[in-house]
Amino acid sequence: MKLHEYQSKQIFSRYRIPIPRGRVAATAIEAKHIAEELGGRVVVKAQVLVGGRGKAGGVKLANNPEEAEQFATQILSMTIKGLPVRKVLVDEAASIEQEIYLGITNDRTAKKPVIMASSAGGVEIEEVARTNPEKIVKVHINPLIGIKEYQTRDIASAIDLPRECWKQFGEILIGLWGVFNDKDATLAEINPLVIGKDRKLTALDGKMLIDDNALFRHPDLSELRDTDEDAPSEIEARKYGLTFIKLDGNIGCMVNGAGLAMASMDILKLFGGEPANFLDIGGGAGADKVAAAMRIILSDPNVKAILFNIFGGITRCDEVARGILTAMAEVKPKVPMVVRLVGTNAKEGRELLVNAKMITAETLAEAAQKAVAAAKGA
Ligand code: GDP
Ligand code: MN
Repeated sequence: MKLHEYQSKQIFSRYRIPIPRGRVAATAIEAKHIAEELGGRVVVKAQVLVGGRGKAGGVKLANNPEEAEQFATQILSMTIKGLPVRKVLVDEAASIEQEIYLGITNDRTAKKPVIMASSAGGVEIEEVARTNPEKIVKVHINPLIGIKEYQTRDIASAIDLPRECWKQFGEILIGLWGVFNDKDATLAEINPLVIGKDRKLTALDGKMLIDDNALFRHPDLSELRDTDEDAPSEIEARKYGLTFIKLDGNIGCMVNGAGLAMASMDILKLFGGEPANFLDIGGGAGADKVAAAMRIILSDPNVKAILFNIFGGITRCDEVARGILTAMAEVKPKVPMVVRLVGTNAKEGRELLVNAKMITAETLAEAAQKAVAAAKGA
């Protein structure tokens, strides 16, 4: 789950990371009032869950409350990388001497969290990573020990941070580790962390990704989810506890088990098909969950065929068949459906589906080939 900049920065400030004064607004008039409160010079920033807002014109410096209102009007009517801007953050404008990059993420190869820091922070950091990777300093963290002060000094020195800023930098880095660790984040990033004319460090931007599988431990964070920016089908799926990811192809997939779902998508591709979604109905899914999954798949107009690949273990094939029948009665699908049921109660499942006019298959390869052919209208 992605958090907005303003949400991330609020969390940062609870870990004593300095952030600019500011508030979020949903209308231009509100933005103007906030600017008045803050004393005039502000930055108006689009709150959308994508990077590169600055370059897209979604970050504007206003000299007075009237300008803040104008910019807010403009920015609130923008769409950035396909996402409509619904809110703006109005922050006190900062004076910038230098922009630093500071982030913590997981290094899957090293199997450890890693700190990344660079003196070349700001909107060009991706470019820096490509052309001057040596300008990004990386230090791994032992999660059982956390960050030690000597590490913060090493990093400060490695990025040539002015001496007078080391202490603040150390506190910010330890705070950022606290955020990353406590919130089960997969990314906690400050870009830019700026050195002001007064030599004070401030986090001007904030970005956090939270591990969805840890959200059950963070009900307060779950509430921050901005469903405005998710595909409606994904929101619906979450309600039923289905793991669903919408893709661009035309073959709907209903599978139990994440690994089997991945394998089913691979094999569809092998035979020249394109999956319309990843869907894991989970172990032990009952008829209602299956029916919900089928409605979600069929709500995608691109879907030209559906592949059901069910390996009955805890999940019983007859339950799945009942779910399919319930959903068919309700949504009356017009697309061909290929079904492969094996395992617990497969025979009972198949018997239930005898009158359902579905294409049956014995093996996964056969099912995939039939689904690809069906999607092509063969
Ligand atoms: P992003 O483009 O989505 O990463 O948005 P950022 O919040 O990082 O802003 C992009 C750039 O705008 C920053 O790198 C800064 O150069 C600039 N910027 C952001 N806030 C301020 C501010 O308060 N004052 C000034 N002068 N520049 C700012
Ligand atoms: Mn940024």
